[in-house]
Amino acid sequence: MSHTHRILTGDTPTGNLHIGHWVGSVRRRVELQETHDCYFLIANLHAYTTRADAPQDVHRDSIEVARDALAMGIDPEKAAIFLQSEVPALSELTYLFAMLLPFNRVMRNPTLKDELTVKGLADNYSFGFPLYTVGQTADILAFRAHSVPVGEDQVPHLELTREVARRFNKTYCGVPDKALDEDHESLGGVFPIPVADVGKIGRLVGTDGQNKMSKSLDNTIHVIDSAKQVKQKIGKIYTGQDSRQPTDPGIIDPDENPLFQYLDVFVHDEAMKADIRDRYERGDNIGDGEVKMLVADAINELLEPMRERRRQYEDDAVVLKVLKSGTARAIAATEQTLDMVKEVAGTGFFARTLTLN
Ligand code: ATP
Ligand code: MG
Repeated sequence: MSHTHRILTGDTPTGNLHIGHWVGSVRRRVELQETHDCYFLIANLHAYTTRADAPQDVHRDSIEVARDALAMGIDPEKAAIFLQSEVPALSELTYLFAMLLPFNRVMRNPTLKDELTVKGLADNYSFGFPLYTVGQTADILAFRAHSVPVGEDQVPHLELTREVARRFNKTYCGVPDKALDEDHESLGGVFPIPVADVGKIGRLVGTDGQNKMSKSLDNTIHVIDSAKQVKQKIGKIYTGQDSRQPTDPGIIDPDENPLFQYLDVFVHDEAMKADIRDRYERGDNIGDGEVKMLVADAINELLEPMRERRRQYEDDAVVLKVLKSGTARAIAATEQTLDMVKEVAGTGFFARTLTLN
């Protein structure tokens, strides 16, 4: 029942990809595509949690996110980039998995609570909003993925996924109650228990200096930003040190000052970084302005080859072709899982074959 080590991860098309995606997940995807069977999902159904009234925007951003991923170095010959809405097994499994999860368990998810607050949804969120976390378990398990490269905010979702996988394997596949996670597949479970692969930078702060950099908040540096826009955005970062003079000493907690997180992540010259931090702490004639310039240059250096690659994918038809072939691969993989699921869960009666025209 075992298969090649598989990776599944994805992005919601709520806007263009940003440098938080790069450090949190996409950089890892680019490495993994060399050695693993990789599937990268565009979660366009989940985008309706916040954008149900803007279907054209979701449609456009689905193509944009794919274009950005290609620009960042995802190779469509190696990895499958695909559309959630075109892979029916994902919705079918969501329905079944929703039956395996207590409602209160879904609502306890801290990331879900955070998102409701940050996105200003209070009591007005749709029934589909909490359901999307169940959908995410389906996205991952439908590929029988072993590992999921994600940012820190996704770890609670992954925990939910692991619970569903364990419950499914125990309820329908006879995996014993006390089985270790790593033994589930060899004991006959349909699903491996997937692990979160959180990169070194699990949460890049946004240019507001406070929240996680997020597509839905106006605090991002996009892959499509021009060099000038990057300079402007970095220039406006609020560091909480704005009245500080270059000669003021001060203890800088890198977790508190977004500029220093950016310096750590994007500037690679370790000796220079140590020197800057030291001078900044001593108030040795260095202010935010100088650090901002260094950071902006480093980010532009990272983005330049991405901007260049993006030009090859300017035509929507080229991106759609990539998405179609990725989606066909995703359908094949998930239909196979669905067959296995239906057989043990008692929902299968007939064989079926799905094809894209
Ligand atoms: P939205 O605001 O719509 O939730 P987002 O910017 O949070 O969008 P997602 O599509 O939710 O982006 O996330 C895609 C992947 O990128 C996830 O694995 C997530 O953890 C990771 N990610 C997103 N933002 C960051 C960030 N600032 N730092 C590290 N990883 C991130
Ligand atoms: Mg998010």
